[in-house]
Amino acid sequence: MEHNMDEKRKISLQRADELYNEIEDFLQFKEEFLRETAKRRDIISRQHKKELMEYFGASPEDWDDWHWQLKNRISSVSTLGKFIRLSEKQQKTMAEISKKYRWATTPYYLSLMDYEDMSYPINKMALPSPEENDASGELDPMGEEFTNPAPCITRRYPNRLIVNVTSSCAMFCRHCQRRRLIGESDRIESEANVSAAIEYIRNTREIRDVLITGGDPMMLPDELLEKIISRIREIPHVEIIRIGTRVPVTMPQRITPELAEMLKKYHPLYINTQFNHPGELTEDAVRACERLADAGIPIGNQMVFLKGINNDKYIVQLLNEGLLKARVRPYYIFHPKQVTGTKHFQITVEEGLKIMEYLRGHTSGLAIPQYIVNAPNGYGKIPLLPNYIKESDESHARLKTWEGREVEIGYFDGQ
Ligand code: SF4
Repeated sequence: MEHNMDEKRKISLQRADELYNEIEDFLQFKEEFLRETAKRRDIISRQHKKELMEYFGASPEDWDDWHWQLKNRISSVSTLGKFIRLSEKQQKTMAEISKKYRWATTPYYLSLMDYEDMSYPINKMALPSPEENDASGELDPMGEEFTNPAPCITRRYPNRLIVNVTSSCAMFCRHCQRRRLIGESDRIESEANVSAAIEYIRNTREIRDVLITGGDPMMLPDELLEKIISRIREIPHVEIIRIGTRVPVTMPQRITPELAEMLKKYHPLYINTQFNHPGELTEDAVRACERLADAGIPIGNQMVFLKGINNDKYIVQLLNEGLLKARVRPYYIFHPKQVTGTKHFQITVEEGLKIMEYLRGHTSGLAIPQYIVNAPNGYGKIPLLPNYIKESDESHARLKTWEGREVEIGYFDGQ
């Protein structure tokens, strides 16, 4: 049927109304969330920062210095109790758990927490909880220890591998999927081990992509990190180098202008980080990401689905849209693994897929990462997608759109 201009405009306006209705609830959620977050940042976190600086006798320059942040990490329950309201029972349980699984948080990350409410997502990612006592699961569900052909190396794919250079992190995340590597002390791999790893890469010509991780490789001083990166960069068959780090989230002070200057000498270099909640996208964190982006480093985010943190479609949408504003591309969403002590963060694949299904159509494609399950035994990543195919054969396919409409596509000549 032919439509004149006025009719076309009328139909377009009706469609625009329909589309607005699709997103109205999210817009309300966003407005409330941003109002609440602004209050937290401008009043609460600022106050927390002031109290922490007073407690440690720190100057603003100290606070902005990552060495200071690292030196003053909080890892004792009694120190924590000076800031966060904890009952005696909570303190006792936390102290017990910290004997089993190490914990520490930077003063910066502590300043973002809710001092009254332990269920606030930032608290839950950083502070030990009694649920960690649940012994189900495994410490190494991906069998990384069986994909370790040389010191510090994990190899699960034909042409790429991981080099683990340290067991240290700025903060010991409660959901950490590699908590077995996070030892009693901050261990940097010995020069002999790192050299053996680099030799393995040099002698393995099919390796074109090297991911430097840990722990968190940004815990290394600039000189040592540069030594490792430059030696890997010298290997002719290594095309790209990637660094996995959570410091833009947990200690953004680490991303100094000097570090960015050093890293940009070793392009093509990529950084993957892990923001899990929009509350982590502070001014400091955004500045750290922008500094890396200004150095020409593409940054990807690898969120982990975590119950009570981000198993909510609007939270994931807000996070991913906020990341794009900070020039970070949402890259993967990982399904949580069955790591001992993290059962309370577990969600089901169905729950994850519903969130992925919602994202399509409700946000830019750039804000939709790939949902990944890591296969047990080191068999690699399995991408998961909601099912959009209703039926298909050689002549046609019936598909579902993001709004749930069924459509049919045919093929030329029935092929
Ligand atoms: S920064 Fe990464 S490796 Fe370190 S504790 Fe957190 S999740 Fe684990």
